[in-house]
Amino acid sequence: MEKILEIDDLHVHFSTYGGTVQAVRGVNLYLNKGETLAIVGESGSGKSVTSNSIMQLIPSPSGKIVRGSIRFKGKDLVQTSKKEMRAIRGVDISMIFQDPMTALNPTLTVGDQLTEGLKQHSSVSIGKAKEKAIEMLRLVGITNPESRLKQYPHQFSGGMRQRIVIAMALICEPDLLIADEPTTALDVTIQAQIMELFKEIQEKTGVSIILVTHDLGVVARVADRVAVMYGGKIIETGDKDDIFYRPQHPYTIGLLQSVPRLDMKEDILQPIEGTPPDLFAPPQGCPFTARCAHAMQVCANIHPATSYLSDSHQVECWLQDARAKRQPV
Ligand code: SF4
Ligand code: MG
Repeated sequence: MEKILEIDDLHVHFSTYGGTVQAVRGVNLYLNKGETLAIVGESGSGKSVTSNSIMQLIPSPSGKIVRGSIRFKGKDLVQTSKKEMRAIRGVDISMIFQDPMTALNPTLTVGDQLTEGLKQHSSVSIGKAKEKAIEMLRLVGITNPESRLKQYPHQFSGGMRQRIVIAMALICEPDLLIADEPTTALDVTIQAQIMELFKEIQEKTGVSIILVTHDLGVVARVADRVAVMYGGKIIETGDKDDIFYRPQHPYTIGLLQSVPRLDMKEDILQPIEGTPPDLFAPPQGCPFTARCAHAMQVCANIHPATSYLSDSHQVECWLQDARAKRQPV
């Protein structure tokens, strides 16, 4: 399969008054053309920082990619100039965020906002731009697109607004769409509809998608592959079935047990006790040691190596490593 994106040994730091936050600590990831990769983790796990790095959206000078490469169609985005990056954003790679309202301008019609991106990046006629805008609204499932073009964002529901934002992100036909918690602000039924929409759009356009979310339930619907992040690292990655049916990392197993399911009573849900590691002074060993029921002496001292369970499935945990001494911490 053709890889559209390859992240290699990415490290991102933020300088604050309290010290340096090591937000991303050696992330390796790839995305195949036309697939959906979900990056899952709690807030502060480094998932948004990783996806923002792809777009060079790390706020400088406090934030900095201190090591690593991000190859998109063979080009290293870490080394790409700001000017070149502006030309890539929205055209080759698009991004959508949690709150559709922040992405939309309340004073402009939906039609103007949809065609804006197109006009910025190409010399398209007004008629053609309008045609494309109508086509995009249809693609995202908005009926009567001709008349809807003349309306303002407040005339749409929250779910419809997120559909418009998705249409805006796709109008220049990007190869890669990054969606960071795209449904978190929406109610559960609408969330499901938007996830269905991502699948439909992918089938129609072949766009590759990175979905960033804290919600494994959302992932189950759309992801082809899943990367689970914890403490600035990817601790387990695999096909959707590897993660949902054969999870190996105690944190992934904990996450799955905390996802509500229809066939489950609320009181069986088990939240993961404890708090994530302090990334001002990250643990030298496994970042999950303090919360892990299986922690051994070695876990606190030495970071586990990557174990390759199959071609698709990798995990960083001493339980998978025959060298681990079975001694409780
Ligand atoms: Fe638990 Fe040790 Fe595995 Fe970390 S390496 S998840 S502490 S068993
Ligand atoms: Mg985030």
